[in-house]
Amino acid sequence: MHPDLERVLEVQELDLRIVALRTEIATLPKQIAAIEKLLDEHVRKLELDKTALAGNLKDRKKHETDIQGHEQKISKLKDQMMQAKTNEQLWAFQKEIGFFEGEIAKAEDRILALMMDAEQMEGKAKQSQAALDEERKTVEAQKADATRRTNADKKELAEVLAKRKELAAAVPPALLASYDKLHAKMRDGVAIARAVDGVCQSCQMTIRPQLYAELRIGAGIQTCESCRRMLAYTAPAVDVQAQMDV
Ligand SMILES: [Zn+2]
Repeated sequence: MHPDLERVLEVQELDLRIVALRTEIATLPKQIAAIEKLLDEHVRKLELDKTALAGNLKDRKKHETDIQGHEQKISKLKDQMMQAKTNEQLWAFQKEIGFFEGEIAKAEDRILALMMDAEQMEGKAKQSQAALDEERKTVEAQKADATRRTNADKKELAEVLAKRKELAAAVPPALLASYDKLHAKMRDGVAIARAVDGVCQSCQMTIRPQLYAELRIGAGIQTCESCRRMLAYTAPAVDVQAQMDV
């Protein structure tokens, strides 16, 4: 392989790591936001449960107040009944008392039903609260982990950038400029493809035998005629084995 290309290949390795690190650094805050959004949804659900429970309690109180009102009316009617002069009057009072007693019984049934509902709702809210507490712990751990990873990535990025600067200084400027242009242009950031067994490892196209022969002897810098990447001749693994056997 052309010695300059070997250096650019090292630059490329660092550049690919830089891209990966920058991507991860940019992604982590989004991941945290997604985790927090999910937690918020569960918090809101629990709040709805609690609101429903408060509504249930309010309804019960209203029925209890109604019962008190009915009891007062009954007591008043009973006093008035003492002064009844005719049987008709007596029955009229009794009928009215009976109506309010019926209302009290209805309200009591309602209260009982509401209490049973409340018991279920309380159980559910308790479960939701416990699940939420557990979830909060997990989220905090995930956030701490994400922060740790971001800090480690930033530290590594600074190191890789410094190393990249050092390596790039040893590459002929024209070659580095061509490489930079290709690296920015290629979607995967790969500007230099390895040529193994007569095949470009980036686009998988067969390299013309003459071009492959030139690559093999390291004559100048060649580009793949299919994907336009620079080609770096890389001896196939079997060749190495064959050489060791000799
Ligand atoms: Zn190619």
